[in-house]
Amino acid sequence: MYEIDATHDPKRKSWVESANAPDADFPIQNLPFGRFRPAGSSEAFRIGVAIGDQVLDLRAAGLIDTDDMNALMDATPAERQQLRKKISEGLTLQSAKQTTWQQALVPQSACEYTVPCRVGDYTDFYTGIHHATTVGKLFRPDNPLMPNYKWVPIGYHGRASSLVVSGTTVKRPNGQTKAADAQAPTLGPSQRLDYELELGYYISQGNAQGSPIDIENAEAHLFGVGMFNDWSARDLQAWEYQPLGPFLSKNFSSTVAPWIVTMEALAPFRAPFNRAEDDPQPLPYLDGKINRKQGQIDILLEVLIQTAKMRDAGDAPVRLTRGSALDAAYWTAAQLVAHHTVNGCNLQAGDLLGSGTLSGSTADSAGSLLELTAGGKNPIQLPNGEKRTFLQNGDTLILRGWCERDGVVRIGLGEAVGTVQG
Ligand code: MN
Repeated sequence: MYEIDATHDPKRKSWVESANAPDADFPIQNLPFGRFRPAGSSEAFRIGVAIGDQVLDLRAAGLIDTDDMNALMDATPAERQQLRKKISEGLTLQSAKQTTWQQALVPQSACEYTVPCRVGDYTDFYTGIHHATTVGKLFRPDNPLMPNYKWVPIGYHGRASSLVVSGTTVKRPNGQTKAADAQAPTLGPSQRLDYELELGYYISQGNAQGSPIDIENAEAHLFGVGMFNDWSARDLQAWEYQPLGPFLSKNFSSTVAPWIVTMEALAPFRAPFNRAEDDPQPLPYLDGKINRKQGQIDILLEVLIQTAKMRDAGDAPVRLTRGSALDAAYWTAAQLVAHHTVNGCNLQAGDLLGSGTLSGSTADSAGSLLELTAGGKNPIQLPNGEKRTFLQNGDTLILRGWCERDGVVRIGLGEAVGTVQG
């Protein structure tokens, strides 16, 4: 579907010097899309592609004539690949475009961003099987994994209106909570505010209502992937989640990275989808040759924290989590698309599917504090002596992702950053 071509050539370098650094998130092989404007301005957001430490303004470069990201996402895969080819060639060292396109570059440090597209609908899944098992044990010790888990990609409909871009403050939510020994619940600020390390899958072309997307064609309906933090109030969640699932514990805010890394850019980092022999095999509508061959995406993931005290002391953020999406996801993005539409539900360009918390199988790869602290029982000790069970006001969370493989240029997904405020 998404083939490796000249745009992935590891020898290809850019005339944008910062893109050629070996640890750059945005080398010429990446070319992720976002919406930006000069920081502090009230101009309309424009569509840009990150290259090194710059943004290429696609309209100013004469590549598109719209500021509507959703229209761009609604293009066919062939049209999207054609645009990628043009951007890549124009940014290549010694391109004749250099003189004119230099005028269309803006330093990323001089920009502000917004949610990269208009997200009409947002669905959050639960594909992290280690997360589901560990959390299930906390809520239901005898019955951690529900009997449907290995058959159905579990999900719920989230809230698109409260999605925010990286850098936006996250206000601690109020809600109902009830202590186990209390007679009645009370209303107040969440005392168990948590993060969830997720990937967001963005939809490109949608489907007509009543017309499911076949799994073998599902990747054509994916535009790309971005870092995603599904902030979660665990005390609100524990009290409200039965019988209809998460509601106010999740929908107060979710943070996305400014950049969508395209499926084209991810082509060199695909991996087979396997299902252990003693697990149920996917039903036929969730199974297919292409998905078996390369349904998974090999993305490394990291979460860092910087408390207010660390920030005041000039201490760098410290790592809470490091893991891999490969180790974590029980279902692939294509399976989520096939499942979401099998009943005839229509997806639209710009829709966002959350992966669910991508916790690895090891303790240090858990993608939430709920898991890292065993439900708040075992506090984390930070290097400066501070302890954390759940998030305190002033804590900044930084979610990062990147892909690396031998013989391929490393690409990054950038960051989804948020600071908790009381
Ligand atoms: Mn989630």
